[in-house]
Amino acid sequence: MLIIAWIDEVDNTDIELVGGKGASLGEMKQAELPVPDAFVVTAETFRRFIVDSGIDKKIFQILDETNVDNSDELQKASEKIKEIIIQTETPNDIRKKVNEAYKEISEKAEGKNEFVAIRSSATAEDLPDASFAGQQETFLNIRGEEKVMKKIKECWASLYTARAIFYREKQDFEHSKVNIAVVVQRMVNAEKAGVIFTSHPTTGENEVIIEAGWGLGEGVVSGSVSPDHYIVDKNGFKVKKKDISTKRTMFDRDPETGETRHIEVPEDMQNKPTLTDEEITELAKMGEGVEIHYETPQDVEWAIEDNEIYMLQSRPITTITDEKIPENKASTGKIILEGLGASPGVGAGTVKIVKNLDELDKVKEGDILVTSMTTPDMVPAMKKASAIVTDEGGLTCHAAIVSRELSTPAVVGANGASKTLKDGQEVTVDGEKGKIYKGKIKEQKTQKTQEKTVKTVTNTVTATDIKVNVSIPEAAERAAQTGADGVGLLRIEHLVLGLNRHPQSYAEKGEEELFVKELENGIRKVADEFYPKPVWIRTLDAPTDEFRSLEGGDREPQEHNPMLGFRGIRRDLQYQEIFRMQIKAIKKLYEKGYTNLGLMLPLIQHPKEVAKAKEMMKNQELDIEKIDFGIMVETPAAALIIEDIIKEDIDFVSFGTNDLTQYTLAVDRNNEIVSNIYDERHPAVLKLIKRVIEKCNEADVKTSICGQAGSYPDIVGQLVRMGISSVSANIDSVEEIRQTVAKKEKQILLDSVRK
Ligand code: PEP
Ligand code: MG
Repeated sequence: MLIIAWIDEVDNTDIELVGGKGASLGEMKQAELPVPDAFVVTAETFRRFIVDSGIDKKIFQILDETNVDNSDELQKASEKIKEIIIQTETPNDIRKKVNEAYKEISEKAEGKNEFVAIRSSATAEDLPDASFAGQQETFLNIRGEEKVMKKIKECWASLYTARAIFYREKQDFEHSKVNIAVVVQRMVNAEKAGVIFTSHPTTGENEVIIEAGWGLGEGVVSGSVSPDHYIVDKNGFKVKKKDISTKRTMFDRDPETGETRHIEVPEDMQNKPTLTDEEITELAKMGEGVEIHYETPQDVEWAIEDNEIYMLQSRPITTITDEKIPENKASTGKIILEGLGASPGVGAGTVKIVKNLDELDKVKEGDILVTSMTTPDMVPAMKKASAIVTDEGGLTCHAAIVSRELSTPAVVGANGASKTLKDGQEVTVDGEKGKIYKGKIKEQKTQKTQEKTVKTVTNTVTATDIKVNVSIPEAAERAAQTGADGVGLLRIEHLVLGLNRHPQSYAEKGEEELFVKELENGIRKVADEFYPKPVWIRTLDAPTDEFRSLEGGDREPQEHNPMLGFRGIRRDLQYQEIFRMQIKAIKKLYEKGYTNLGLMLPLIQHPKEVAKAKEMMKNQELDIEKIDFGIMVETPAAALIIEDIIKEDIDFVSFGTNDLTQYTLAVDRNNEIVSNIYDERHPAVLKLIKRVIEKCNEADVKTSICGQAGSYPDIVGQLVRMGISSVSANIDSVEEIRQTVAKKEKQILLDSVRK
């Protein structure tokens, strides 16, 4: 059995033995890149440690007896297992081998007791959710045999965090088959460090991006310092652009204690470029070397110590989601139509006009779906399409919301698209600019990533929670990959309308259970991805025209103004069966241990609606005291008398700015004819929001935003200043909003210190 393996001896075929990180370091060594010395305590070693000591039986027995749906029980099981691992004596031969290898690293570095970095390297890292692999522990600046062994064990224990256990259970992975390796690497005491993106991370452009900051790379990687930004053209390695930021903080090794510390950058270095031109070019060339070796764009962590460049880690970039349409080409293409850019990205293909659902089959992989407005039935076709164009709609219509979640480019409100465009015609759709061009002007990227992934996720910590909106359960996994602090809005109407049968008809035919089950299953997909983070479910809110197309939908009243009509809580308080079925589904899930669920009511305009809804929940024995309960603030009425609504004992409010804007300005959110005056930044809308935040803060009620404006950095910046407690954004905007909030919070702190 191999207790330790040097990275010089392994490559990508050894993931089972040394985990993803270990194998990747081995590959980099093979490519003759300057990687600091490192060895890996193999996955076999961990296995032997638990088997030989007999603790494997104890661990698996605890896991067997744990109901992972009960979060308290799960937490306790996790703590117990971690404790067992930490407390169990490491066998002598393992200890000896690790000590010898550590000594060798120290000697090679011409020192005694060299500092090392210790990281967990999970053998299942290639699985879709990294959390599966455990906490991905990293310990920097560790020194001395005892401490090294202790941290290795902490990495082992990280395989049994509550989340990792829960995830494995839900994915039906056998705990006994999951292993963990640990990388021990000489610590580069970096003077400067950062990340190289060997191709542009979002566009795949032929350029290398380098981010650099002072000190250890932790600051740049975690996003806690704003790094310098350099762009290098891959043709000739010329530096194309330099953005020098003010680098106020850095991480380094405390010369006295040897520990990693977070300190202020000396003033004369704050605005100084981190890298010289030679260093930029050299890093760019090395980055290119890594990309050539892996044959795919990489994101590489690097560090410079004593003028030597080191490469510390390399991962494939998962952010190139789209084929790139070159700016110059797009702007010279012939524009046929314009609408609202509703979901970013560019798609080119053959137009397929869908007038009614019988024609849906026409849409094949890569086609452009053109229709007056999408419906839940069209979701499968929307997934296949390379872009979507609608005649009608604003930025918060069905097509816009679902396209963003599916990561399919979309232009909505392109008046007359289904008449102007012809079946079989080739077009290019720019979902950002809202333009449709004649012909296929997209340049095929050689490395097309079909997979719809999310932008790079940082570990930036914010005091304001950053959550994500979800409307279709299929998007839950992508949503969770953003690292969001929970779901600030789960719209269930997409799920309900997707059943194609009017919910009332289930109740009438005594088939309530069928409906409840469907709802339960859909919600559970989202709750699983996020557990134990909160998921706020919004009760059903769709206007009559959307219900009408369902089987049994002819009961729906004809309305002149569906947006002002029978929707939201007012419908549920009248059709109480539908509300009851929703509560039943939530109650069932809660009882199964999904204690992370919260509930919010849409379109509230009077406190008595809240009181009545609560009464109904109590009648159904849903313990409202135990779950997060709140309302959407979507009407000026709710905003103006929020004090009275607070008296109904709510835990939170969430601004539905899509509706709040529509009702404050008297502008139909889905009417493209007036979309030019639909404006969430209107002072009246912001004034209402400010008022509600103030009143809620006085009463200790949480505030959040889940309307489209929660994805607009400038508005979110203002809300943070007003004191909002969380923000829920679209999947693609989570990271940008996280950075916006982090920056704003720092500014606020700084302002208060300066004052
Ligand atoms: C809103 O009104 O802002 C909101 C989030 O709800 P919906 O868009 O579903 O009406
Ligand atoms: Mg709304």
